[in-house]
Amino acid sequence: KLVSKKFKEKNIINLKNLKIGKDLIIIAGPCSVESEKQILQTALEVKKAGANILRGGAFKPRTSPYSFQGLGIKGLKLLKKAGKMFDMPIITELIDIRDINLIGEYSDIIQIGARNMQNFPLLKEVGKTNKPIMLKRGMNSTLEEFLCAAEYIMKEGNNKVFLCERGIRTFETYTRNTLDLSIIPSIKKESNLPIFVDPSHGTGLLSHIEPMSLAAIAAGADGLMIEVHINPEKALSDGFQAYPANEFKTLVDKIKRLYLTL
Ligand code: PEP
Ligand code: MN
Repeated sequence: KLVSKKFKEKNIINLKNLKIGKDLIIIAGPCSVESEKQILQTALEVKKAGANILRGGAFKPRTSPYSFQGLGIKGLKLLKKAGKMFDMPIITELIDIRDINLIGEYSDIIQIGARNMQNFPLLKEVGKTNKPIMLKRGMNSTLEEFLCAAEYIMKEGNNKVFLCERGIRTFETYTRNTLDLSIIPSIKKESNLPIFVDPSHGTGLLSHIEPMSLAAIAAGADGLMIEVHINPEKALSDGFQAYPANEFKTLVDKIKRLYLTL
């Protein structure tokens, strides 16, 4: 298998000056791109804080069809503008196979979200591109299923795949999901793929972002993805879990300090 250690020891992905799987990478930005002001101000703050990659949803996979669905192409354009302005690669989610060329045109990394982890036609299609792919763990997926999904992408010729743990569904409802940090050493043992952690969707609790970020780094995560907003109360999606932009540098400093001790 292409994901296995027997095939390759570590799948390091080069993106501009970043080495995903080698250096600690912080992906940050809002859940959704909402306006020019919102994305530019957030990008400025996360850049100042030391984040490496800017995130922002343009096509959102929302539970309710009545919730904000994202700005679509306009969102992609704004995200790209922000990335360019602050010299950061960008990542955004692809939810519809029909948008693959569009997303590929704008985004440096394609995100496959939890809900599409086993959308096999979508996985095969992104496998035919040459873009780095961040594959998020399905909320009801086992390690084996997660790695098989990555294999689907790589089998088509695209080996630039990295993973992201974002919490799974369990009987526990106190947190939005149950963040399975034990998958970090499991992934490292069973595959060559970099593994990131998303404590924002993983816990849904602002109070838990810092401890779970630090725990993920201690456990060996290759990077983090954290939702950040300039005004969480006004966010159009996931505001309750958004890290306030003006406090983000303090968090990143702690994360980097811990990383340096490992
Ligand atoms: C996201 O990162 O924007 C997202 C929707 O996350 P997930 O697919 O993990 O729910
Ligand atoms: Mn979100």
